[in-house]
Amino acid sequence: MVIIKLTKRQDEILQIVKKNGPITGKEIAEKLSVSRAALRPDLAILTMSGNLDARPRVGYFYNEQFALKQRAERFIHQKVADFKAHPIVVEKSTSVYDAIVQLFLEDVGTLYIVDSQGHLAGVVSRKDLLRAAIGNKNLQELPVSVIMTRMPNIITIFPEETLYHAAQKMINYHVDSLPVVKEVANQNHTYLLVGRITKTTITRAYVEIMEEKLN
Ligand code: ADP
Repeated sequence: MVIIKLTKRQDEILQIVKKNGPITGKEIAEKLSVSRAALRPDLAILTMSGNLDARPRVGYFYNEQFALKQRAERFIHQKVADFKAHPIVVEKSTSVYDAIVQLFLEDVGTLYIVDSQGHLAGVVSRKDLLRAAIGNKNLQELPVSVIMTRMPNIITIFPEETLYHAAQKMINYHVDSLPVVKEVANQNHTYLLVGRITKTTITRAYVEIMEEKLN
């Protein structure tokens, strides 16, 4: 399916038909205070592209199926780069106690751990921290690096990949978030952290698509 970018006038027509359809070309022209002839090219584009259905002697209808397909198509093409949030990062030597404090302060479910060069070294989730808290008395002495999920077992995503791909990875690997990374030149599996994608990111994008806030 080809998504055509509508002009302002075409979008106005679409909204009128959505609200008032079935509606004749003459009635649309009256609502926009233009001549019927002036509208003809726009109506032709909107019907040929599938946005509108036309029935002789009845008028124009909004094509709900087409609109839904377009939304799905848009969703599939959204890029991680446009949705990634700021990653919350701690160093390997940070204690589990301080990591828990950080989790609350930043209101996140996952922390990313970096090494002294700022490269991604690990991930700790809420449950990792809870598990550590159950089994250990001295959380101030226990570094997060001991309990983290470490490289190369971290599932990552690149900014140029799609949001859909990120959603698939989270579902397939049973994780709540993915670090968005860039590979350090000439060093395989060494990454700089540039963002995070969470299940909330996907949910928000879904709502925005359904409310037609995304292009
Ligand atoms: P929680 O454990 O709080 O439900 P997750 O489902 O995200 O949160 O994490 C499940 C496990 O997977 C944890 O042990 C965590 O360290 C690990 N984990 C979280 N995110 C990733 C990731 N992107 N790649 C690999 N492992 C991860």
